Amino acid sequence: MKRLLTWAAVVTMGIGGTHTTRAQEEIAGLPTPHYHPEATDPAWLAFAAQFHGHIGPWATSGLRAGMIARRAVGAKGYFDLRVEVEGPLVKPPHSCFLDGLQVSTGATLGKRNLIWTETDALVVRVTNTKTGKQVELRPTAKLLAVIASMKPTPVDSDDHGHAHDHGEGSADAVARRIVAMPEKELFAVKVIEKE
Ligand SMILES: [Zn+2]
Repeated sequence: MKRLLTWAAVVTMGIGGTHTTRAQEEIAGLPTPHYHPEATDPAWLAFAAQFHGHIGPWATSGLRAGMIARRAVGAKGYFDLRVEVEGPLVKPPHSCFLDGLQVSTGATLGKRNLIWTETDALVVRVTNTKTGKQVELRPTAKLLAVIASMKPTPVDSDDHGHAHDHGEGSADAVARRIVAMPEKELFAVKVIEKE
């Protein structure tokens, strides 16, 4: 934990106040994300940005979903859970939700413990593989409305328009709103199977 906080402090110190893509300290050997840290950002947001490349509403929704679900089933993360996602997540920005989930649960494509199936409605099921406890999360109408408040991005953009716009309604402005929303306003959580 100490190392995480130290790293976040380094990131925060990297604020340059300019809209360049090099707004934070580079981690040697890794790509530099389109992330412009703010003092109120939680430490985990920098890690998500490092993994995903930016902080959009779908990625941050996935982050929050994974945190809520992991805690609800009492899993440590990475190796003791399975994440099953249903939803219309064919391409970005919607599919960014899956990256947020990977960061906050530690279940990944590579470990094959994150599985996505295409359907019309978004549902996340997380199972603690040691105890069998399982929860189901569905986004609230409020969360979907907040996500939808993001301004449409340019069609020719290869990064969801993120690097060009940081004002109101931009990907990172709406993302930060989602970061700060109370959990009960984000997802309806239901325990499916008890331990
Ligand atoms: Zn994204």
